[in-house]
Amino acid sequence: MLYKTRMSDVTPSSDKPTLDPENWEELRAQGHRMLDDTLDYIKDIRERPVWQPIPEAVRAQFRAGLPQEPGELGAVYNEFARNVVPYAAGNVHPGFMGWVQGGGTAVGMLAEMLAGGLNANLGGRDHAPVEVERQIVDWVRQIFEFPEGATGLFVTGSSLANFIGVLVARTAALGTDVRKSGLGAAGGKLRAYASAAAHRCIPLALDLSGLGSAAVRPIATDTDGRMDLAKLADAVACDRAAGLTPFLVVGTAGTVDTGAIDDLSAIADFCAAENLRFHVDGAFGALAVLSPKLKPLVKGIERADSIAFDFHKWGQVPYDAGFVLVRDGKLHRDTFASPAAYLRPQAKGLAAGAPWFSDYGPDLSRGFRALKTWFTLKTYGLRRIGQSIEHSCELAQYLEARVRAEPKLELLAPARLNIVCFRYGSSDAVNAKIVVDLHESGIAAPSTTTVNGKLAIRCAFVNHRIQIRDVEAMVAAVLRLGSA
Ligand SMILES: *Cc1c(COP(=O)(O)O)cnc(C)c1O
Repeated sequence: MLYKTRMSDVTPSSDKPTLDPENWEELRAQGHRMLDDTLDYIKDIRERPVWQPIPEAVRAQFRAGLPQEPGELGAVYNEFARNVVPYAAGNVHPGFMGWVQGGGTAVGMLAEMLAGGLNANLGGRDHAPVEVERQIVDWVRQIFEFPEGATGLFVTGSSLANFIGVLVARTAALGTDVRKSGLGAAGGKLRAYASAAAHRCIPLALDLSGLGSAAVRPIATDTDGRMDLAKLADAVACDRAAGLTPFLVVGTAGTVDTGAIDDLSAIADFCAAENLRFHVDGAFGALAVLSPKLKPLVKGIERADSIAFDFHKWGQVPYDAGFVLVRDGKLHRDTFASPAAYLRPQAKGLAAGAPWFSDYGPDLSRGFRALKTWFTLKTYGLRRIGQSIEHSCELAQYLEARVRAEPKLELLAPARLNIVCFRYGSSDAVNAKIVVDLHESGIAAPSTTTVNGKLAIRCAFVNHRIQIRDVEAMVAAVLRLGSA
């Protein structure tokens, strides 16, 4: 027999060591140091470079072997402080203007710590953390003016949220049988439509759903970067004539390249007339509804069948905090719910509390993403978050004017929302080098994209810490590096 403990042997002194510390006071002191350092990191972020390359000697330390034996927490922390912190991507820093990334907040960081202590699993069961996520689902429903009965949940990011939107649309088109029997002949005929400027996670979602990435038709954009609705109507008519089954239009609220917003009201009208599902990828742009000034730009989003967006971008919640909202809660549940004896919800006790979030997405075990979002929304209120979103659009207006006034700079796309694409002089190679040199200078970190065949320096203002002086520092550095 492997275990031979008898009842008579059981005393407190026969307890086996756990993973809790032997000396809580030592751990407490270490924990306070870590907390103070992290708060200082955020407070003093401007004193650091946005980004710096990882030296080879540091990189090599991440190739060390498996840690078989215990180490000192203080030593592990020192290694983190030395080898990880200085070489983070820098999206906390106000010079970070690349891609579309949120800056996080100290409040969100503290909430992450609290969530770590509870170690809650939000797959289901009857406990208060689930109520916190339910409250946010209801808040999101109100923010987007969805009816009662709409459902939603936290996921990693909009990539997964869009995937869930596509799967719900697939259930709407094929019925729940598709979950058991697969796509069949009918599934092979389904076609979806999205702007040619849609995020790459849209074709990926079609791919993952089994429909294939080619099942989404890229619809050309107009001069404003929005889906051309005449071309959309043509594509749908053409597919119907060919015996195919159009089922879904994905509108984008804030394209990743230029911040363009599709005409969501017109798409909603079209979908209603053509009996198509309407999903919105609003990864960052959806939260424009929080600013009374910007809200008209996303008019029509309240008519979507489902919305994907991220709290970790314009919402400034620390990574990761993606969200999907679905109008038809029953259809949402029918897309994912899977009975299992060991998960059967009960009327009372810890196993009560139906419905469970695990019935609304592919994850069973789920972390407490809701808590950092709950703290963020309650601490700042929707109004302050809306103001910070508005401010990032003002920065884009400022940069657009700055670029127009500077003969050496060319504006490649007008400022839409929070994104500006421009370049120095006329050479792709020179602009690519300017951006790399900017990153290595530690002053600012824009990204690049291609606009009308030209390589662009792309600035997206998402981080709430960015000020006009950061935009000025970036422009000055571009002019200096370009003329070097
Ligand atoms: C960021 C983004 C995504 C992907 O979201 P993740 O949270 O990174 O998964 C999808 N669509 C758009 C328009 C985005 O900006």
